[in-house]
Amino acid sequence: MTDTQPQTKEFQAETKQVLRLVIHSLYSHKEIFLRELVSNASDACEKLRFEALAKPDLLGADVLSVTLTPDAAAGTLNIKDNGIGMSEAEVIDNLGTIARSGTKKFLETLSGDSAKDAQLIGQFGVGFYSAFIVADKVTVLTKRTDAPGVRWDSDGEGQYQIQTDQKSDRGTEVILHLRDEDKEFLQPARLRQLVRKYSDHLSLPIILKEGETEETVNQAKAFWTRPKSDLTDEDYQAFYKHLTHDSENARVWAHNKVEGNIEYTSLLYLPKRAPFDLFEREQKGGIQLYVKRVFIMDKAAELLPPYLRFMRGLVDTADLPLNVSRELLQNNRTVEKIKSALVKRSLDLLEDLAANKPEEYAEFWKTFGVVLKEGIIEDPGQKERIAKLLRFHSTAAAGDAPDATLEQYVGRMPTDQKSIYYLTADTLTAARNSPHLEASRAKGVEVLLLVDRIDEWVASHLHEFDGKPLANVSSSAADVASAIETPEKAAAESTFKDTTERLGKLLTGKIAAAQVSARLTESPAVLVAGEFGMSLRMGRILKQAGQNNPFATLPILELNPKHPLIERLKDTADETDFADLAHVLYDQAMLAEGGELDDPAIFVRRVNRLIVDGLAEKPKIILS
Ligand code: ADP
Ligand code: MG
Repeated sequence: MTDTQPQTKEFQAETKQVLRLVIHSLYSHKEIFLRELVSNASDACEKLRFEALAKPDLLGADVLSVTLTPDAAAGTLNIKDNGIGMSEAEVIDNLGTIARSGTKKFLETLSGDSAKDAQLIGQFGVGFYSAFIVADKVTVLTKRTDAPGVRWDSDGEGQYQIQTDQKSDRGTEVILHLRDEDKEFLQPARLRQLVRKYSDHLSLPIILKEGETEETVNQAKAFWTRPKSDLTDEDYQAFYKHLTHDSENARVWAHNKVEGNIEYTSLLYLPKRAPFDLFEREQKGGIQLYVKRVFIMDKAAELLPPYLRFMRGLVDTADLPLNVSRELLQNNRTVEKIKSALVKRSLDLLEDLAANKPEEYAEFWKTFGVVLKEGIIEDPGQKERIAKLLRFHSTAAAGDAPDATLEQYVGRMPTDQKSIYYLTADTLTAARNSPHLEASRAKGVEVLLLVDRIDEWVASHLHEFDGKPLANVSSSAADVASAIETPEKAAAESTFKDTTERLGKLLTGKIAAAQVSARLTESPAVLVAGEFGMSLRMGRILKQAGQNNPFATLPILELNPKHPLIERLKDTADETDFADLAHVLYDQAMLAEGGELDDPAIFVRRVNRLIVDGLAEKPKIILS
């Protein structure tokens, strides 16, 4: 058999960019090339093991392994596996292009700090290119069982050559022609040290070949099968980094072996920082599934609900068939049971952190709190446990960090207060300055400030805590009104009866009614949602999302009877002037609410007219 002529091809443009960055930003963390190439070799072996489930002949009696052969005379390091191998098309696809969507994100995420960037490489699926950090020429010989062998050569400068090859055994060999300054990676002691550091927990043997001697350098035992008592914190952290490619340590973890009805081992980690795609709803979560130590799938969404998608780790069970598919995982009773146990374990971990390391919990909350909140909506069964894990901004604390818990709030409630009060707003500043807080502030009533978009839904699904209903202070619900009721208000109602009626008519279609308010001490007017109406902010969020909202109700315009502008409104007989002032008050209230004006230009014109009238000290009606 003769080989075809080598064909020269260009790397895809993005690939070139990644290559350059990888090489230039990582020279101080060169050693990671070995972690990446060994991990690829190990992945290739796992893929073969998986395919062999359906076609046992593929594997036969082979022992899957990775062999490292340094050749000092040739100046090469050879990393060889007997895994799945690649066809020519796969080589072009996998080594010549970066089709993965992560590439752009990778380029954007590079920080210039090579310690951090070294970790990103694995995370974004560009690990192979790290070969060029230490090699000025890389040769790949590879063969799938069902396709001819392929040879790929490149100096990493923008082009590669590809041709068929006579390689006859299945698997892949990556041959690194090491640069002069990187010859340290030919020393057996150095290689042994790196394998132990990065690849000890891989479940297949990693063999170091020196002349005729072969030595297995790693433990070659699945990490999670080892007894807890044998494992140190450092071991857990090293495995975490291997699993996730995170450069930070994990915050906490739980390693459990369950025997009984269902048999499984789980290892769950709580990371310190968020992956770049945390907020993509289709992100499937970070739990790997193994069946009897065979890797089955990544990101098994069925093993943890989306609101715990920040958890990382794995489950290894003997109670699922090896050929389990994603379809089979759905509605599978064994999976359901494992899932519910993992949910409990994850919440245990969080409760433990909150109770024993509150500062660390606060850090967790800052990073993942918004995701955990989804659980209030998604998982009614765990609502109470999750509710205790929530953290809020509060009028009782001036800080920027949300640290009030519902339990603390209830503990601080005066005996005659029936509800837990909250206010939602787009930002913390907007919440703190909201007119809705004027009365509660005057009366010393604590209000929780909810400033995440999802909080509208969280509050409505949470509904109550410890038997106390949640009440939005911007609604006209009876208990909110009674909590801030004042004797003056009743008197003012009759004084302003005429004014509120005129307003109601004038602003038909914009408000349900106008009424005197006890809420305000500084602002002239405020918009509140009807007792059973949806909050104004919720209505706005739905509108922005382009959803038509069948539950939209008109707000109530409440007036501060002690404000000079409201006094003036009452005394304005001229209909045109009354209308100008009324619209300005309504528009102002809408702006204070974080809402948008239907016609900002008219608002500006009206305000200017009022100012000019005021400046001219017009002896007539408005602002005279
Ligand atoms: P990732 O491993 O994250 O997918 P890499 O850049 O490390 O990204 O590798 C790119 C792809 O090249 C792999 O997904 C795999 O398909 C292929 N590949 C790399 N090394 C091997 C190998 N030793 N055997 C088979 N395929 C490999
Ligand atoms: Mg890889």
